Formats: sequence, structure tokens, C-alpha cells
Amino acid sequence: MKNSVTKALFILISFTLINIPSAFALEKVTLQLKWKHAFQFAGYYAAKEKGFYEEKGLDVNIIPAVPGQDIISPVVNGFAQFGVSSNSLLQARDSGKPVVMLAIVYQHSSVVLLTLEKDMTKGIHSIQDQTAMLETKTAEIAAFLKQANIDINKMTLLKHSYDPQDLVNGKVDVISGYSIDEPFFLEKQNLYYKTFNPRSLGIDFYGDNLFTSEKEIRDHPERVKAFREASLKGWQYAMDNKEEIIQTILRDYPTSYTYEFLSYQAETMEDLVQPTLVEMGYFSHDRWQHIVNIYQNLGMLSKGFDLDKFLYDPAPSVGLAFFYQALAIAAGILVLIAAGLIYVLSINRRLDHALLESQEAKEIIWKQAYLDPLTNLSNRRNFKGRIQKALEKAEAKHTRVALLYLDLDDFKAINDFHGHDVGDNLLIEVANRLSQVISKKRNIYRLGGDEFTIIIDQFEDKAYLESLSQTILDKLSAPYCFDKDKLYISASIGISLYPKHAKNSDSLLRYADEAMFSAKDHGRNQYQFFTQKLHQDILYRMQVISDLRSSLEEQQFELHYQPIVVLNTGEIKKAEALIRWNHPVHGLTMPLEFIKIAEETSHIIDIGDWVFKTASKQLKQWRSEINPDLIMSVNTSPAQYQYKTSTMDSWFDHLQSLELDPHAIIIEITESMIMKENSHIEEKLMQFGHHGIQVALDDFGTGYSSLSHLNKFDIDFIKIDQTFISHLSMHSQQLELCEAIIIMAHKLGLSVIAEGIETEEQRRLLMKIGCDYGQGYLFATPMPKDDFEDLLRSSSSSQAQFRIMSSKDKNKQ
Ligand code: C2E
Ligand code: MG
Ligand code: MG
Repeated sequence: MKNSVTKALFILISFTLINIPSAFALEKVTLQLKWKHAFQFAGYYAAKEKGFYEEKGLDVNIIPAVPGQDIISPVVNGFAQFGVSSNSLLQARDSGKPVVMLAIVYQHSSVVLLTLEKDMTKGIHSIQDQTAMLETKTAEIAAFLKQANIDINKMTLLKHSYDPQDLVNGKVDVISGYSIDEPFFLEKQNLYYKTFNPRSLGIDFYGDNLFTSEKEIRDHPERVKAFREASLKGWQYAMDNKEEIIQTILRDYPTSYTYEFLSYQAETMEDLVQPTLVEMGYFSHDRWQHIVNIYQNLGMLSKGFDLDKFLYDPAPSVGLAFFYQALAIAAGILVLIAAGLIYVLSINRRLDHALLESQEAKEIIWKQAYLDPLTNLSNRRNFKGRIQKALEKAEAKHTRVALLYLDLDDFKAINDFHGHDVGDNLLIEVANRLSQVISKKRNIYRLGGDEFTIIIDQFEDKAYLESLSQTILDKLSAPYCFDKDKLYISASIGISLYPKHAKNSDSLLRYADEAMFSAKDHGRNQYQFFTQKLHQDILYRMQVISDLRSSLEEQQFELHYQPIVVLNTGEIKKAEALIRWNHPVHGLTMPLEFIKIAEETSHIIDIGDWVFKTASKQLKQWRSEINPDLIMSVNTSPAQYQYKTSTMDSWFDHLQSLELDPHAIIIEITESMIMKENSHIEEKLMQFGHHGIQVALDDFGTGYSSLSHLNKFDIDFIKIDQTFISHLSMHSQQLELCEAIIIMAHKLGLSVIAEGIETEEQRRLLMKIGCDYGQGYLFATPMPKDDFEDLLRSSSSSQAQFRIMSSKDKNKQ
């Protein structure tokens, strides 16, 4: 009986205790906001809406502010118990106002300066002589300008109207504002604007601070704790359920802001609040100290400022030592050792716990894991999570996502010529410029090196993506000024779309990468959308790369030979060796389908070596057996001249071992090769000349080389490209050009070979303007060695003019 009474009493007491807040009237408290109702304060509305305040026994009245209102006095004077303020709170405290900072919601402040200045080269200093509306009470602006050595007194300052339209109308040149606010209005008007972020000069402050007064903490410590906890719970909820809270604001809190604006705020705040990285409300003592130091160094805070009194301690430490001592004594001497052990273990556990729980450590670890330290953009790991989320969201809402893959063109050259420091600065500037075009910086990622991706989760149509990509390209190609250097770089962009091109993030990324590759292939400094055709080309390319590996070993290559004749007589003087690939699956494959790939993958070095050695061996045989004066022309690729030492060094020995006169060999190089800065080309050509090997400039007229280039290199022949020949007719511009080339070449002591002669008319015209040699289907197509041998034999005996076609090649062309 006695037992059951106790039990009933216990239940009653517990019930009463648990339900105290709801059993009695809720405690009324007031929260003074620092601005009009907006998503900027979402967490507080969420705490109210979801009953988090009520659970803690609180009835919270949320009061908006009118622009320019003093937020601190109502809290200090007890009209409101809590307030939301900027970092001016520090100065209020310093001037004797007993305010205490309870929690941080914004890990980064959203305060920025905004201008409509279009000139990229103008930095923050350009605002020195301008007219401005600055919120000078926001200490961070003052700190930023002071840090940038801008004298506010020399500026023309107007009273802040808090209306970005004044910037648009030209009333002022610069305004202070918030990155979650004014840019929306400027973007809506499609205006180009520039933001100066104090973070760029190391002024990285916390954003909105939740605060109270010392009196409130002293008189109502539990209420402060309860309010703080419920508010932060509300914030977590709001950031996880943005759409719902936007609707709550629109329904319950009178505001002139639109749904679109609130959504914009919600999105841009993600970066500042960092709800997924940092526990809500968290602040670091060290970071506050750093902020205080900046203020103090700028003379904006007294030297003796007591930070500890300013910061609220949400979990004051409990003196456990005493508890353990008492426990040890009570347990007696026999358990002393055991108690000691428990004590040590528990201290260890607390230390471990403290370490693990250390948000600061977490923040650093997170940053290292998810942010790129150079550009401060999100990194590859972060990208993987975010793209996944973006696709899930798009799937749920039946919307689309575009992925832009951006790679700088020839960035390696910048690193090589200007050093890695300049390269790093360039990457930082590229990141800045991207952030100016893409409103949500968190959607820009640096995957590594000079590769960036951008997730676009809201767009109207393809035209929007086209214009956005072009804006990015234009912005990135503007000059970069570092010290005295003015550098230029361009970028190539590939674009893939969800769900059109791919439904999973890996494929979407791969396709955007493939499209970027294609943009580079088409000449760089451009964007390309992914297409299936492009994908097929890339698959083919990958197959070729893989097949090339075993091609030499498996003797899949073959040389065909095409005669080069004296134009006037038709006599075969030379032969050009042209490679063919007997592909095990695709059959006879022409060089245009694989040479470029072999060049890019350096397979060409061994292939080129094989070509030279096979062609020269063949030549030796034909010179010995049929025509002792025959000359062999062999094509070479730029990649073969890339390195100081190369397989080419063995060619001279090879010729010697064949006892073949080096003069019987012509090495063909392309015109574009001699335009490139490549000292090895010059060196190798000199070696060729030294050994008596002749050099021909292939495809002449396609690479814009100048006379000075021709003079610089030791060249014996010019081969006029077939594009000139195919359009040759009486009085044509091509004919005049060919004539000019021939006159010029002859003046320089070079002979001229016309490529791609297909008609008698072309031959006649070329003869008339003094061309020396001809090559083309009119005489013969390239043909296998046996056919060429027959041709050589018959022509040696008859000295006739040919029109023999190789049936094998004919089918292919
Ligand atoms: P190229 O050196 O300018 O060779 C001439 C190309 O024009 C050959 O194409 C030839 O078949 C073609 N041709 C000859 N006469 C006529 C004509 O009257 N009309 C037309 N339309 N075309 C004609 P092919 O054999 O397909 O070779 C293409 C290119 O591949 C060559 O152009 C050369 O740049 C490269 N190439 C061929 N073999 C090798 C090689 O062993 N090494 C390297 N690095 N490149 C090679
Ligand atoms: Mg050639
Ligand atoms: Mg050519």
C-alpha cells in the first residue's frame, strides 16, 4: 500500500514537472529583428510555427525593424529580451552597453559593396572619389574601407535610402548592401553589377548575431537557454525546409517581399549559414578574437575589450573533480585505486569527447575536405554530393539541371612561362570572375587543376545557357593584370543536361567533359552542348587509342606510295609514303582517321619511326633495282620533334646501314609546325640539313607562315596545299596566289610541288606559272608497294605520263 502511494505521488510530480510549461501560461518574450520580415530571419519563424518555442514554455513576439532603427537599445532597456544584430554589437559592448552574443546563424556576413561599374580592371579603390550610400553603422564596412585605405571623408556620402534603384538611376555610384538582398533586384533588371566583398581583404565576420542583455542572463538564465535552443532548432528546420518557411512568412508576416525574392534569399543564404557544415549557432572563440583584433588594429575597438564577457557560454563546464574526489573518499581506501582508474578513464573520455565535439576542429576538417584552399570554391568531393542532391530535387520537381564543365585553354603554358605563383593568381581571379557571373557561388566548383564545373538548377531554355556560357567566355578572356604582366587566357565549356542527356551524376559529368573536349577540338574559347554524335566520336577515339597500342606489334600498318612527277614531262621523280592502317575490324583505315589521335597520344613517335625506316628500306630496294634517282618523301608530325632526343636520332645510322644516300630522302613537315615556338624543330631540321636530308614544307598556304619563317629554316621544297589547286582556273584568285608562291619560292631557291592535281586543266595552268612538280589523282592515287613497283618499272622503260589508279585506294576516297 505504502509503495503504491509513493508510486502515485511520483507519477503526479513527474507529470507536473514535465508539463509545467503547458500547464501554466506561456512566458511572453520579444525578439527584435534588425530588418523587415524576410527569409533572413527564417529560423525564428520556424521555431514559432513548429512549436519549438512553445515546447520550451515561450510565447515569442517577433518584431521587424524599420530601416536605420537602433536594435540594441530595446534589448538593453528590456523592451525586448532578445535581438538580432550585426557585428556592431561588439562596439555597443565596448561603449558600455551590457549586450551578450548568444549564437551565430550566419557563418559569413552577407555585407557587400555594390556598383554597376563594368570595367573589370577597376578594383575597390575606384570608389574613392565616388558618391556612395554606405551603412556606416555597420562596422564591417568601415573596417573594409579602412583596410583598403579608402578615406570615407573624401567620398561624397548620401544618406542611405536602402533602395538599390538609386544605383540603377545613377544617383550614387556605390552602395553598401547584403549579398542576399540587393543583387536580386539588380539581376531582375538584367543589370551587370559588381560586388566587393570584405572577405576579399580578410574581413570575414560572422553575420547576424542573436543577442540578449546581461540582465536577462542574470535574471532568467533558463529562459535564455530555452530561447536559444528553440531558435537554433528553428533555424535547422528552416534551412532544411525552405519552401515551407517561405510560405509561412508570406502567410503570417506582413512583408512587401515576393515569393521569388524570398526564394532567392533562401538559396543565397545556404552559403552564408552553412547549415550542413556547422552546427547551428556555433561560434569559435578564436575567430571572434580574430575579428576583435581586426577592429582593434583599425582603432575601432578599445584595446582592453573583454571578449569573454561578450560571448555567451551555452554549456558552462561543471567541476567534476570534486565529485570524483568525494566519490573516492566515500568508496574508501579499498576502492581508491579503482576510483582513480575510473577517474582517469572518464577524463580521457571527456577529452576525447571534447576533441571530437570541437566544432572548430570540425569546421577546419570540413573546409579541408570540401573547399578548395586556393580559390575557396567548393571542391570535387563537395561537387559529388551537391550534383546528386540537385538531380534528386530536379527529379522530384520534374525540373531540369544543366552542368557546365569548364577548362582553361593552354593553362599549362601560363604555369610554364610565368611560374606557378602567377598560375595560382590566375586561378583565383578566374574563380572571382565566375562568381561574378554565377549568382550562387556555391554552385561553382573547382574539380582540380584548371577544371571547373557549374551547376545550373534554374533556367528557362537553351538560349539562356548559351548566353550564360558566352558571358563566362567573354569575362574570362578579358586581360588579367598581375604586376606589370598583362595575361590572356580563354576557356572551353561543355554542357550536359539532366534528364535529356543523362539521369545520373556520373554520366552527366562525363558528358559535359566530353562536350568540353569537343569545344577544345573545335578551336577552343567556345562552348559546346553534348550530343550523341559527339559521344560516338569520343567512343571511336577511345577505341582507336586502345587499338593503336598493339597495332605496330601486330604489323597492322602498311605504306602506300604516290608518285610525284615533273610537271612538264610527267616523269616520276619522287614518291610520297602515305600510311594505311589495316585495322582488324574496320579494314583499311586512312590516316586522317587516326594520325591526329596518334599524335595526341604520342603513339606517332614509334609509328613515325616505323614509317621512316620502312619507306627508306623500300626506297633502297627501288633505287637498286629500278630507278637509282628515285627520291622518297616521308611525312612527320610535330610530336616527333617534341623532345630533344628522339627516335629520329637513329635515322642517320639507319640510312648509313642501308647505304642509302640521305639526299634521296625528303622529310615533310607541316607549315603550322614551324610557326610554333619549338626549338627542337629548328635543331632537328639543322641536323637533317647537316646530314644531307632534304626538307619539304607540306600543306603550304594553310598555316599562314611568313617569308621570314621560310628563311629561318633550311627548306628545299614547298608543297602547295590541294585546297588552292582544287579551285584553280584562269583568272582565279587561287591562280594568282599560286603564281606568287612559286615566284617567291624560286627567289628563295626552293622548288615547288603542287598537291592534289586532278585535272588536265589544273596541270596546264600550273605548268604555265612555272610550277616544278605535281602530285595528284591525275597522275596516280597512292597505291600499295607492288602496284607502285609495277608503275615504276613501266614508267622507267617508257618515261610515259600516267593515269593509273590504285583500285584499293580509289574505293576508299
Ligand atoms: P599529305 O601529306 O598532304 O598527303 C597528301 C594527301 O592528299 C593524301 O591523303 C593523298 O591521298 C591525298 N591526295 C593525293 N592526291 C590527291 C588528289 O588529287 N585529290 C585529293 N582529294 N586528294 C589527294 P592521305 O593519304 O589520306 O593522307 C592524309 C594526310 O595524312 C597526309 O596529308 C599527311 O598529313 C598525313 N599522313 C599520311 N601518312 C602519314 C605518315 O606516315 N606520318 C604522318 N605523320 N602523317 C601522315
Ligand atoms: Mg605530305
Ligand atoms: Mg599535303
